[in-house]
Amino acid sequence: MIKGITASLGIALAKVYKLEELTIAVDQKKVDEVEKEIKLLNEAITKTKKDLTNLRDHTLKTMGKEKADIFDAHLLVADDPELIGQVTDMINREKVNVEYALKTVRDTFVTTFENMDNEYMKERATDILDVTNRMLAKLLNLKTSDISLIDEDVIVVAHDLTPSDTAQMNKFVKGFITNTGGRTSHSAIMARSLEIPAVVGTKTITNDVNDGDFVVLDALNGEVFINPTESVINEYVAKKEQYEKDKVLLKQLKDEDTVTKDGLHVELAANIGTPQDLLGVVDNGAEGIGLFRTEFLYMGRDDFPSEEEQFNAYKTVLEGMKGKPVVVRTLDIGGDKKLSYLKMPEELNPFLGYRAIRLCLDQKDIFKTQLRGLLRASIYGNLRIMFPMIAVLAEFNEAKAFLLEVKKELLAEGYKVSDSIEIGMMVEIPSAALLADQFAKVVDFFSIGTNDLIQYTFASDRMNEHVSYLYQPYNPSLLRLIKMVIDAAHQENKWVGMCGEMAGDKIAVPILLGLGLDEFSMSATSILNTRKLLLELSLNEMKLLASEALIKSTNEEVIELVNSYMSK
Ligand code: PEP
Ligand code: MG
Repeated sequence: MIKGITASLGIALAKVYKLEELTIAVDQKKVDEVEKEIKLLNEAITKTKKDLTNLRDHTLKTMGKEKADIFDAHLLVADDPELIGQVTDMINREKVNVEYALKTVRDTFVTTFENMDNEYMKERATDILDVTNRMLAKLLNLKTSDISLIDEDVIVVAHDLTPSDTAQMNKFVKGFITNTGGRTSHSAIMARSLEIPAVVGTKTITNDVNDGDFVVLDALNGEVFINPTESVINEYVAKKEQYEKDKVLLKQLKDEDTVTKDGLHVELAANIGTPQDLLGVVDNGAEGIGLFRTEFLYMGRDDFPSEEEQFNAYKTVLEGMKGKPVVVRTLDIGGDKKLSYLKMPEELNPFLGYRAIRLCLDQKDIFKTQLRGLLRASIYGNLRIMFPMIAVLAEFNEAKAFLLEVKKELLAEGYKVSDSIEIGMMVEIPSAALLADQFAKVVDFFSIGTNDLIQYTFASDRMNEHVSYLYQPYNPSLLRLIKMVIDAAHQENKWVGMCGEMAGDKIAVPILLGLGLDEFSMSATSILNTRKLLLELSLNEMKLLASEALIKSTNEEVIELVNSYMSK
């Protein structure tokens, strides 16, 4: 049995589909029959084009035109007369094997494109690499992996998955397991919004399984069983059925209010990445959206989304929520979230670097397009805007002033903008938590981002499984920071939410309730479980429990405290 970190709950049983990182080794050989090599080249081109066309059609159906366009660009590369012409010339001239000629010409093309000044041209280097790798794989009879083409039930196993890999997953992907990553890596967050079980951070899974092995993925306990016995399979088939039955029971809480035993109403909200996630939000009975991670609108494409595209996305979400609050976070790019079309500086510590509000205040044209789209959409619902990664007061003040300037400009152009937009910030950097009393005077609300607050408090990279023991959400040091933020906000009559994964965690929820948290925002799939839990708790008792937790010394002691209370 292999242990990992549960990234998304559930149980799955299926064959392994291993996502291989392709290593292509090419030898140089002298050939006598150049015609044979050229014929092989043409066959590889035809097969590659067939794959790309299938991928394009499939992506168009499942994910829309924008993502499908990527494969149209790839088809152009596969047919490029300059590239193919040079490969044929080299085979004829130097009498070398097709693989060697293709690789040599490709390397020259890639270097040329990579050295161009123009961002768009640089991007073409990636396209050329991608397409020629496909051709080389055909020539060398290597398997390439296309997640979106999977057409039988599988569990995907990979070293790591990018958000765009997860975006390609279709209904046949029953779960995934990776070597790297933690609960708050973005592939884990995507797994929860896709509602498929996932275990990450196993360190070794790609070495432990072979393609086609049968695995039981128990993502309730973070365990993976490889080629298990008949009796283990039967046990897990039963557990899976039970889990799914419980899920149906939970659904009955969908339209209930979230009120504690002693009558306090708290707000239960959902975190989303795109307007498509709305379905899960409504299905799971969220009372609002506590975090719209807008960077997903910018990912998996060739260029920035226009003001109009953004306006439409925000309008869809606001209208879909029918007047319920929607907290939109402005662009939080950087760290592990990169855009292929935005040049970023080389950084030793991207998580501590040029990202989020730092980047937006530096490149105001990017920020402005988003704010215009957002403000124009504000009249279609109950919009709240927050800025990510605020470290010092000046950043919040500058971002807010800029937002008000953009609003003024829109009004002058004749657009309507709502007058009741709340403007808040994320508290995810310890400096902001420590100075929360000052921030509370200038914001309308706080939303505590514990995914980052934990990594910065413990100086422990949230993506790095070697230090995952330092992901300690219940450690009193973190609980004290959270308490400071909540108390400071309440002192100024402001509300506080939490949109980090901790807000849906069953050990943390009782304590957060006791500390006075007003809004809990989480993956949509955690909402009903959390509602069930909150309905069973009393505020007054949780206040006592929280005060006991605050004077404990370790993460484990707090877990024990909550567990022993809950089992009473
Ligand atoms: C957080 O840091 O807690 C958060 C909600 O933001 P993200 O996970 O997108 O960094
Ligand atoms: Mg964050």
